[in-house]
Amino acid sequence: MDLERIKDILKNEPAFRMKQSYKAVFSDLADDWASVSVLPLPLREKLSEEAPLSIKAEINEAKDKKSAKAAIDLGDVWVETVLMKHKDGRNTVCVSTQAGCKMACDFCLTGKMGFKRNLDHQEIIIQVLFFARYLKKSGQRVSNVVFMGMGEPLDNYEEVIKAVRSLNDPETFNIGARKISVSTVGLVDGINKLSSEPLQINLAVSLHAPNDKLRNKLMPISRLYPIKGLMKAISNYIKRTKRKVMIEYIMLSGINDSQSAAKELAELLKKELGELFTVNLIAYNQTGKYEASKAKDVKKFKDILESSGIEVVQRYKFGRDIKAACGQLAGEIK
Ligand code: SF4
Repeated sequence: MDLERIKDILKNEPAFRMKQSYKAVFSDLADDWASVSVLPLPLREKLSEEAPLSIKAEINEAKDKKSAKAAIDLGDVWVETVLMKHKDGRNTVCVSTQAGCKMACDFCLTGKMGFKRNLDHQEIIIQVLFFARYLKKSGQRVSNVVFMGMGEPLDNYEEVIKAVRSLNDPETFNIGARKISVSTVGLVDGINKLSSEPLQINLAVSLHAPNDKLRNKLMPISRLYPIKGLMKAISNYIKRTKRKVMIEYIMLSGINDSQSAAKELAELLKKELGELFTVNLIAYNQTGKYEASKAKDVKKFKDILESSGIEVVQRYKFGRDIKAACGQLAGEIK
């Protein structure tokens, strides 16, 4: 599906045709121009031929039906996108922003793939559209979008912001900015830029270690952006936006899950960020080198953070059987 081509075809038509077409694509979620009877037949035929609405993809549903992973064919590359169906009725789509990733985090399968290319904003929103159509069959809709799939969103800043605006646009998906989250490994320049955008989106920062020595081992990008500068950027972001930041921390057995690491983390975050943040303890999904922390160690870690007055959440584990969980997107469907 090529949104630019659709716009191009419609630019010589009366303005209301664009409105009708957008409604058909984003609100009625048509997957074929033939069904868009509000448009005249010759225009439908032209659109069908030159800008078909089909999205070529392969889908893999988890056994418990709570999540699904799709591999979407973008012509030269395939990217993966994940749907998570929450108990409270929210349906979150996790989108990829790059084919592969340059950041090479040591615990992540995508990082091992290397980098192929950035996705443009259309290629990002097509992933949401794919699952919007999928959910429509059961009378549901996409309620939240997280930019946490393949790639580092702030390394593809302009296209990610365009995609966010498009998701937020009442004429397209109309998803509230507060229901959109962007995650980063901690690209300081990108965080600074994001802090001045007039957008009420959520920011998540993957920290994963309480000090540079350990973080350098897990996340090579940390050498370029040490923790001190990163904390300053997050703190400035909080001051400017007055929005709570999510600090992501993946729990790796015997690596970053000790009680002393928890104390060090609590001290660092309280000192540098004050109050307006939450820590998300992420369960690691076995991808080779590391092991997930034991439940008793996660509990001790969490207790230490909470006893320091830090709010802690633990993300529900989605999609393990389809390798759709955090750090497991690596083009395996193909
Ligand atoms: S964790 Fe994210 S930023 Fe790091 S390598 Fe994987 S996809 Fe890239």
